[in-house]
Amino acid sequence: MTYDWFAGLVLLAAVFLTTRLGYFLAFKVPALQRMRVINREQDALKMAKGHYPPVVKSSIRVGLVTNLVFFLALAPFVITLEARPAWRYLIDVVLILLVFDFFYYLAHRFLLHGVGYFVRVHAVHHQAHEPTHIDAYLVHPLETFIGQALFIASATGLGALAGPFHVGSVALAYLLYVNINLVNHTAVDLPYFPFKTLNYITTKHAIHHIDMSKGNYATITMMYDYAFGTLD
Ligand SMILES: [Zn+2]
Ligand SMILES: [Zn+2]
Repeated sequence: MTYDWFAGLVLLAAVFLTTRLGYFLAFKVPALQRMRVINREQDALKMAKGHYPPVVKSSIRVGLVTNLVFFLALAPFVITLEARPAWRYLIDVVLILLVFDFFYYLAHRFLLHGVGYFVRVHAVHHQAHEPTHIDAYLVHPLETFIGQALFIASATGLGALAGPFHVGSVALAYLLYVNINLVNHTAVDLPYFPFKTLNYITTKHAIHHIDMSKGNYATITMMYDYAFGTLD
């Protein structure tokens, strides 16, 4: 394993630019822009409540630090700009996300919904009964760290074993991981083509937020909930 600082910079730039471009294009779609306005209105009302700002702020701060550690200190060891076999690009993305989602499922179900102290930590996030965009950040900093650490450990661990991964694969896996978690929490009411999938995944996570006894523990796919009988 070598530290490829240039690949690290390319990864950071790719994630940043794709995010900006993706949001710019996505919100050109009138239906999505409409949902954005609704979420922003709800978010503003929630942020006016005293308990939101400090939690949101500390969650973002912890997320920033763990992201920096990932991009600057860890990812450059397991990524490359060299071409990989064609079949690997997408397989690597799927591999990283499935392994992460498996460990996230276990942590969410058996730790955050299972062990006394961690249940109290997770209860901060479950204060949101009808989630909107901001609730992706209504997370106790310890929980933010756990989630980030699971993704980082999955990506770097797999990279050390099966890598190095191409920069593009890690960028795509990271973008999907972050944005699926964000989208999961948005309020979306678009039950028609081509938004049915979007509508489905937001509804599934909204069900998880009704109270702390509901299923749907995984964050990327419903596969593990389906397999282990916790799909709600
Ligand atoms: Zn939960
Ligand atoms: Zn949630």
